Amino acid sequence: SQYEAPNPPDPPIKVVVRIRPNDREEEVERTVKRVSSDELTFGDRKFSFDSVFDSDSKQEDIFSKIGIPLVKDALAGYNTSIMSFGQTGSGKTFTMWGPPSAMVEDPSPFSSQGLAPRIFQMLFSEIQKEQENSEGKLINYQCRCSFVEIFNEQIGDLLDPTQRDLKIKDDAKNGLYVENVTEEYVTSYDDVTQILIKGLSSRKVGATTINSKSSRSHILFTFILESWCKETSSKCFGSSKTSRISLVDLAGLDRNVNDAQGRQSTREGKNLKKSMSRLGQLIDSLSKETELRPSEDRLYRGSCLTHLLRESLGGNAKLTVICAISPDNKTLRFGQRLKSIKNQPI
Ligand code: ADP
Ligand code: MG
Repeated sequence: SQYEAPNPPDPPIKVVVRIRPNDREEEVERTVKRVSSDELTFGDRKFSFDSVFDSDSKQEDIFSKIGIPLVKDALAGYNTSIMSFGQTGSGKTFTMWGPPSAMVEDPSPFSSQGLAPRIFQMLFSEIQKEQENSEGKLINYQCRCSFVEIFNEQIGDLLDPTQRDLKIKDDAKNGLYVENVTEEYVTSYDDVTQILIKGLSSRKVGATTINSKSSRSHILFTFILESWCKETSSKCFGSSKTSRISLVDLAGLDRNVNDAQGRQSTREGKNLKKSMSRLGQLIDSLSKETELRPSEDRLYRGSCLTHLLRESLGGNAKLTVICAISPDNKTLRFGQRLKSIKNQPI
């Protein structure tokens, strides 16, 4: 039998903002200013979020606020997801994964190690603690993960770059899955970091400029944690839990730049626009009361990304959206849309 996680006490969707440090030589007038732990101003307007991280925030701060609760929820059986969202160069990739070189460091308040490696460090350390306390007698854990890229509505396997057009399968027997995707079984933090490093290096094609492919693709890391109770004398005997951790580094929200480049008229540009707008509608619907939502089928259809996220966001799920923003004037247009992200996302 599957035991149900209790109802989440927190709102299932959280939106946080992280302001990137300004790396330009010349002083630019700051357009976005953090005014409290959950508010920022943009010009004379004030916007509130679940948290606002200022430009001097550390990777460790993001982990404490977002990563630690996620690991606890995942171990309790919830499906959990984090998405990083924002313009190219605003810090989405830095926040989610951090530099690959920092992946293998021990996390510390000073390390630039990103959210993902910190999450899996904690997760495996929690599992190890449980195993030590019960001398490995109570719960069996099995973890596996996959890493895909969505570009032009095609799913590429970041762990096997020869697979560039994987298909989503959806049947009553197996549920929803990506056919032929590489699934790696992992038993340690080191296993996960190796996979993250491998996947991220497959994504990287040239520099992260606004028009490079890496700023126009979404990447999705999925970690599936299964556990079952094997101690016959225990109350939990026979029960099992499955939870997913989904980490999504979204394509750059650079629509206007794409306009200028004429990308709007290409099929790829249209696909990206559709994908972002379907995701916006999905998040918007999920933040409404269940009765006010469209049917499950309508919620997730219409783009590869939303379709793939059905298992992660449906049911007993929690989602955190991290809006990464840079303080310079490129943020202006984006800032004007901040409010709608909270109320009527993207
Ligand atoms: P995006 O993925 O949104 O396009 P990146 O994460 O690649 O942006 O960030 C762009 C650049 O800014 C990178 O060189 C990254 O290391 C740097 N950067 C982003 N956020 C921070 C931060 N909070 N502190 C230090 N450097 C950062
Ligand atoms: Mg990036």
